[in-house]
Amino acid sequence: MNISESISKYSLELDEVQLIAVSKTKPISAIMEAYDAGQRHFGENKVQELATKYKELPKDIQWHMIGTVQTNKLKYIASFVHMIHGVDRKKVLVELNKQAIKNNRTIQCLLQVHIAQEDTKFGLNELELRELIGELEQFPHAKVVGLMGIATNTKDSNVVHREFAYLKNLFDELGTTLNWHTLSMGMSGDYKIALENGSTHVRIGSAIFGARKV
Ligand SMILES: *Cc1c(COP(=O)(O)O)cnc(C)c1O
Repeated sequence: MNISESISKYSLELDEVQLIAVSKTKPISAIMEAYDAGQRHFGENKVQELATKYKELPKDIQWHMIGTVQTNKLKYIASFVHMIHGVDRKKVLVELNKQAIKNNRTIQCLLQVHIAQEDTKFGLNELELRELIGELEQFPHAKVVGLMGIATNTKDSNVVHREFAYLKNLFDELGTTLNWHTLSMGMSGDYKIALENGSTHVRIGSAIFGARKV
């Protein structure tokens, strides 16, 4: 399947769920192929790469920053980024709020929760999450609209199911009063399980653009 066929396939299959085409390491030409097939939401995990691609590509693209954010680099994307998925500490909210005010806008973001068994994956634990939610009023221009998580990289679908269900429960419990609307979970290998557990945004890269070299 080529890129535009993949976009069509996922758009049909996902229906109301938002597809974020993860284009990290992929060239402008590949992104344009997806764009021409109607895709408008793209995800990148490096600030520099995101800023460069933004400059070169159509301005109606909605850019998602899906990687861990270094606060000193936020200024390069603060004027245009659609959503920041990987907020995993207060310091990011402080800087995001500051940059949003500078750019006269509100920036949507997601709190990343650590749901995987591997400790290499970033994110807040449940206690840290609850604590941070109590402080959100301090950051009116960094608007938290939901949660994001990355499941364990395993063939055991029961494990992945459990992790996504856990995140969905937190989303429902904490998000109702806060009017959250975005639950970002699911990648090429596990998006079907994420959909079964109420994901609203899936982040799919290699299944659309092919395997990455790095
Ligand atoms: C790279 C990446 C993806 C996409 O992964 P694929 O397995 O290629 O679909 C999704 N989410 C995050 C946070 C990523 O860094």
